[in-house]
Amino acid sequence: MTINSVFERGKDGHYTKRALLYQDIVHYSLIRSKKNLDKNELQFKHRELAKWVLGRNLELINRYKEPSTRHTTLSNRIEDTQNRIKNRLEDLIRMKLIAKVGLIKQEKGTGSVTLYAFRPYVYFIAYILEFIRPENKSDSSTEILTLIRSFAEVNESHIMDFVYRYFKKCNENGVFDKVINYFVEVILLKTQIYTGRDLIKTFLGFTHVSNWILPYPDIFIKTLEESDEVGKKIILFRIKTDIEEYYYQHYLEDEIDILEINMNVITNLKKINGERDQANFVSVTGKEWENIRLNNVGDILQIAVPAFCNNCKSDRAFLVDVFSYLDSYRRRPVYEPDSSGIGGKCTRCDGYIVGGLIRFPYFNISAPWIESDFSRFI
Ligand SMILES: [Zn+2]
Repeated sequence: MTINSVFERGKDGHYTKRALLYQDIVHYSLIRSKKNLDKNELQFKHRELAKWVLGRNLELINRYKEPSTRHTTLSNRIEDTQNRIKNRLEDLIRMKLIAKVGLIKQEKGTGSVTLYAFRPYVYFIAYILEFIRPENKSDSSTEILTLIRSFAEVNESHIMDFVYRYFKKCNENGVFDKVINYFVEVILLKTQIYTGRDLIKTFLGFTHVSNWILPYPDIFIKTLEESDEVGKKIILFRIKTDIEEYYYQHYLEDEIDILEINMNVITNLKKINGERDQANFVSVTGKEWENIRLNNVGDILQIAVPAFCNNCKSDRAFLVDVFSYLDSYRRRPVYEPDSSGIGGKCTRCDGYIVGGLIRFPYFNISAPWIESDFSRFI
């Protein structure tokens, strides 16, 4: 069971019945917290939740509209739906959005019932779901921003603080809604997310903070420039590491894919002609890149870029100033996959060589980077 199932859609594009039931339970967290209750009262029993869900969930509302079910008492409705709602509660517990916090004596009878409580990350999902429902869009994006600020304050991380300030600036420029849209429409559909904490980490781009440069490079660079000295160093170090690690793992991958496809064509042709060709491509970043990277490991303002020199026919490398590197993304629209690169000088022949800009796991795809109408999914 993953968080993605809360957003699961059927073949018709509408949320599945199961997803809608999760969503209603998640939404209940806002109902409890809006009452401004103290901590103990934020805890809830299955019966309280069921009563509320029965009044909100369209599928269940319709079920009890039939002539044969119309007169079912509330208690019996709660009883009839108990297994289903409790199963969904168990799933949400596994996603770490809800916790079982204890047992309480039954109001009637001698047994005891389980007490549940919402965990902090549930509110993030609840506001994302609010965002999807158009009438609440502007309020919920403000709530999402406020939540991120509170997570950033608790965690005292420079990276978290940076991403928060980036989102805040996006909001001031009127584009934060698009960021949330993109997260829901593209990232969430492409990523398996198991817990509430992973969801927020994915939203913050925690594993690849540099991801967020692509949608709004100007805002990203401005946020970076406005960071305090220590914060700036930490972000720059993170970006350098992201990019160099990417090169280490993916150098020339795209180019080789293309070559291999072409080689297959050639190989097949040769086979037809009775010849054999055992060409095999394994490309690594090369010794020069390894040396340059090691020698500049402490220089957060320089990135080691590997490149193939067509003149020397070998893997070379050169250093690029990090801001020039980031600047090259300003000329590259997010939804246009292209092969733009960054230029340098070959150390062997002095010729001009071009290294590829790194691609990002979430943003290198042709995606609907536009305002979406989520009402069609409900
Ligand atoms: Zn060369």
